[in-house]
Amino acid sequence: MPDESESPGDLRTPIVAVLGHVDHGKTSLLDEIRGSAVIDGEAGAITQHIGATAVPLDVVSEVAGSLVDPTEFDLPGLLFIDTPGHHSFSTLRSRGGALADIAVLVVDVNDGFQPQTEEAIRILKDTGTPFVVAANKVDTIPGWNPTENAPIKQTYEAQTDRVRSQLDEKLYELIGELSGAGFSSDLYWRVQDFQANIGVIPVSAMTGEGVPDLLTVLMGLAQRYMKSEMEVNIDGPGAGTVLEVKDEQGFGKTLDVILYDGTVRKGDTIVVGAKNQPIVTEVRALLKPRELAEIRTEKRFEDVPEMQAAAGLKIAAPDLDDAMAGAPVRVVGDRDVATVVEEVEAELAEVAVETAEEGVVVKADTLGSLEALANAMQEAEIPVMSAEVGDIAPRDVAMATTADDDKHRTILGFNVDVLADAERKADEENVRLFDSDVIYQLVEDYETFVEEREREQQ
Ligand code: GDP
Repeated sequence: MPDESESPGDLRTPIVAVLGHVDHGKTSLLDEIRGSAVIDGEAGAITQHIGATAVPLDVVSEVAGSLVDPTEFDLPGLLFIDTPGHHSFSTLRSRGGALADIAVLVVDVNDGFQPQTEEAIRILKDTGTPFVVAANKVDTIPGWNPTENAPIKQTYEAQTDRVRSQLDEKLYELIGELSGAGFSSDLYWRVQDFQANIGVIPVSAMTGEGVPDLLTVLMGLAQRYMKSEMEVNIDGPGAGTVLEVKDEQGFGKTLDVILYDGTVRKGDTIVVGAKNQPIVTEVRALLKPRELAEIRTEKRFEDVPEMQAAAGLKIAAPDLDDAMAGAPVRVVGDRDVATVVEEVEAELAEVAVETAEEGVVVKADTLGSLEALANAMQEAEIPVMSAEVGDIAPRDVAMATTADDDKHRTILGFNVDVLADAERKADEENVRLFDSDVIYQLVEDYETFVEEREREQQ
């Protein structure tokens, strides 16, 4: 009998988030990864999940050609989270419940580092998430000649000096101190130690150039450094994170979930992190991750009996109204419901924002972004009276009016909508609303407001 403790656990697919400034090419890059995987890989090998795309190892190695020898890897492939845009960093968390294992930071080589790029880097650093930089749109560099078909390694050196020095400078500025051991600009071939070196991979989401290299590097990073974190108990009770809470016709409120451990089945009792106490409910339906071809045909979701990690899926269940994006989802299995509720509460408490009796009100779209916003507020020494996930509603305005100090009669919203009633009420009650999709912009706007106000009062 083999010793159980020595038998290797199941390995799940590493989960990859794609981050970057708007228009730098996150969506295009994901499309290109899907596209090249479909063209080069075996038909049907790549699967479109809810909120994610799975690229199995054999497809990675087909795309990457000689760059990847599949026998070197025992991880099953890569799962790319498909929610690009500025929301994607909310899948990164500093403590328990981080969803993405690795990230790709997309930077447009012409546009360079922009506010959301810097924000993404700060959050990657705060959460300790290893990442590589995809220096995108290399096809637009004058003199860049993709038809020459020269390996990127040779042309990169000669033709991307400007880009490279900017990346070097900015990366150094933002994360130089992280490396300690000294920052290297010769990164492309030196991603072995992601603590000290950040891999910069020139790519074009348009021509597909560099995409094989990117997949290779991601696979290598996961395999070399993160494998132990991919160990899961596939047959155990499912554990995942809510990506989005959405209305689905015929199902009411549903959860888009990335399952990173275990199995979830139809009929399972689950505990879901919510605004007040965790929700205990029963899975009414698991909705099938769509095949790639179905994206265009709007085929109705198909109910499936079970799903295993790592996967993106939709869960339909009663009573999900208060569920929060970014919150944990746990299958109870043969444990006590109360134990699992406690577990979920403990995980939520880890990201709970420290609040004071006097301060501003903050709102964010997901738990992850709320945490990032709260960290930024703490750094800027702005006290927070209340911090919640969700759109700005009249009751937030009511809360803001309870502040004693006039400068705290303020709501800061990150990636959220302001409900019409709330806007009207804020006007009436003289409560200021700030919103932005860049956290540091939000903090800066508020600081500027406070400074101006102080100047006026002098
Ligand atoms: P996102 O906002 O980061 O998701 O950016 P998109 O993927 O929507 O890309 C923004 C724009 O840049 C679109 O018009 C794309 O066609 C274009 N784009 C993206 N990647 C490339 C690239 O590698 N080369 C060129 N020339 N254009 C690109």
